[in-house]
Amino acid sequence: MSEYVIENGRIYTETGTIKQGYIVIKNDKIDSIEPGEYQGDLTTIDARGQHILPGFIDIHMHGGYGEDAMDASHDGLKHLSESLLSEGTTSYLATTMTQSDENITKALENIVDYQKVQDQYNAATIVGVHLEGPFISEHKVGAQNPAYVQRPSIAKVEQFQVAANHQIKVITFAPEVEGANDTLKALHKDIQFSIGHTVATFDEVNDAVAHGAKHVTHLYNAGTSFEHREPGVFGAAWLNDQLSTELIVDGIHSHPAAVKIAYKQKGNERFFLITDAMRAKGMPDGEYDLGGQNVIVKGSEARLASGALAGSILKMNKGLKNLIAFTGDTLENLWRVTSLNQAIALNIDKQKGSLKVGKDADIAIVNDDIDVLATIKSGKLHKFKIVL
Ligand SMILES: [Zn+2]
Ligand SMILES: [Zn+2]
Repeated sequence: MSEYVIENGRIYTETGTIKQGYIVIKNDKIDSIEPGEYQGDLTTIDARGQHILPGFIDIHMHGGYGEDAMDASHDGLKHLSESLLSEGTTSYLATTMTQSDENITKALENIVDYQKVQDQYNAATIVGVHLEGPFISEHKVGAQNPAYVQRPSIAKVEQFQVAANHQIKVITFAPEVEGANDTLKALHKDIQFSIGHTVATFDEVNDAVAHGAKHVTHLYNAGTSFEHREPGVFGAAWLNDQLSTELIVDGIHSHPAAVKIAYKQKGNERFFLITDAMRAKGMPDGEYDLGGQNVIVKGSEARLASGALAGSILKMNKGLKNLIAFTGDTLENLWRVTSLNQAIALNIDKQKGSLKVGKDADIAIVNDDIDVLATIKSGKLHKFKIVL
């Protein structure tokens, strides 16, 4: 089906919501978006009045469905990427962990090898790498392995960037660590520096922003709390309009009210929904590995033996459902926190991130409960829940 029509859908676009309309898909791209009923001769798929959104872009995800980017497995990335379509995710940043240089390098090289042959029709596309650590604070490791924390340097980042064939798009780092500001100043034009796993003060965060930091990694997790005399990372993230922030909206990593506060402060253009998922996503309860550490997964929680949260098992569609419930805002306002904001930050918004003529036909069709009914990847339809 190189040319077909998704009709009878509620279509969310940058210029507003079309309550009932259709999208013509042609040669992997969005060819037109129109209100009303389709009258032409092309094959049609009936969206049955459901919600048509841009495919989700997850900029912080270690793995899922039994796989992890740190496994450095080609087949693992393939299986992960194929599986992600079921949650509406069509692009993501493969995310590494604080580990030995050797293991990080192997993971990066594997990602690059996989990218060369990745199937754009049957799998979510890896659009780059999020390097989470090793340049973090030893005082806020969370589920990162403290044995491999190291100080940042321009040379070390460049070494990783060569291994990654310049696919590192985001680095989570602690700005208060020696060497961090020099690295940030030198490299922030090519890489999004994201403040996380840090004990930075309010002033240190704002200094880092002045030097080029743009983002905060999983706000509320592994950062300095808000205190009325030292507002910390959270206070700076809330107040500084130059900072965007990502949140794991699973109801476990943050209280729903904390999510709502962040959303009220940042608005829908500077808030990114992420999963920070690890390999147990989409798998049964049990014991799993995360970056060389044992993780116990029970119900919807993944924790180290110490009790520390160890990534999530959240899916993007569930995160969006939670976000609607926690903020009380509408899908009309919230859709962009799953796609467009990320595409702009990664500078891929000419091809991805919204439903617009000429962009890639990466689309998620969801019902009122934000269950994924179908995902369209580069124009190819994958049905999940039924009926379409
Ligand atoms: Zn983290
Ligand atoms: Zn993470």
